[in-house]
Amino acid sequence: MNRFFPLLLTLLCACTSVQSSQELNEKEIQVGHTSESIATVAKSLSSRVDTILPPLQVLRECHVLAGAHEDIHEVEIGHTESGHPLKAYEFGTGRTHVLLYGFPDPGEAVGGTTILSLLHGLVSGNKHLLSLDVTWHFIPCLNLDDQPDGGRTLSPVFRDRSVREVDWCVSNPRSETKALLDYAGKISPAFTFPLHDEYHSGEAIPLYVVVSECLDPAISERIRTCMHPFGLLLKEKDPHRVMGTAFNVLSDLVGNEYSNSTFSILNEYGLVAVCEVSQQEGISNSALVATQISLGLVMIDAALQKQAMSIEPITAPDADKPRR
Ligand SMILES: [Zn+2]
Repeated sequence: MNRFFPLLLTLLCACTSVQSSQELNEKEIQVGHTSESIATVAKSLSSRVDTILPPLQVLRECHVLAGAHEDIHEVEIGHTESGHPLKAYEFGTGRTHVLLYGFPDPGEAVGGTTILSLLHGLVSGNKHLLSLDVTWHFIPCLNLDDQPDGGRTLSPVFRDRSVREVDWCVSNPRSETKALLDYAGKISPAFTFPLHDEYHSGEAIPLYVVVSECLDPAISERIRTCMHPFGLLLKEKDPHRVMGTAFNVLSDLVGNEYSNSTFSILNEYGLVAVCEVSQQEGISNSALVATQISLGLVMIDAALQKQAMSIEPITAPDADKPRR
């Protein structure tokens, strides 16, 4: 997501104080998984990753997986501008819906492999994933039209400013944008994970996270803790005044343009977070995937917690009423 990086570099630090990590305690956030267990799961799910795959290969492998496992449902949710079918893959029957989409921009490829890793984990019975009260929705490749080499291979690529970006054209939407928002409208995702990245540039850019609304600092701290074992350098400059190092709220970065983004609409259903990983020296492809999965799993815990808190408590049965 190269649109954010220059903005991040120029963003003035508005923070007055950043809560130190020592002040934060695992117990402050009431979720079912420790940071250590999430990092372990992310490592395990990404362990089969050798290379980051190009779009057509990701699409092929998702289709094959869905053919081999009846608990993965392949659905067509629309078309790209040039008429390619847009496929989503659904898994599970949990009460909370989460939506992940890959290849939103040219060459932003890590998310496709992340989605495949999660699908493999789901069908092979990963206990952590299956313990979540979640229905999973994956769009492995949202934007096939703008991928270099027709999606057959990966190569370093930069944004073409003449092309409307799928997540930034709500006022004049592309067909991918409409398909995404229509689909989200049907499933109301409590967490949406647009899998933007800085991988496409081939440059080493410190990792940063962009969220649709300010998170509890315990959540951002937990995300940093889960990502730590995978070794990516974080963006240290301009820490957010609440969430700390490497986090920003999207509307703070882009101002009025926010209303033209899909994130502003997806945020009406739930949390939205972007994990901008890049190629860094000494960092394996599996570590890039594990980093994205770590953020996703913490955010899903946060979304589940948020939903649990919003559900009305069940009232105790009235002892005076006759039982049936
Ligand atoms: Zn992007």
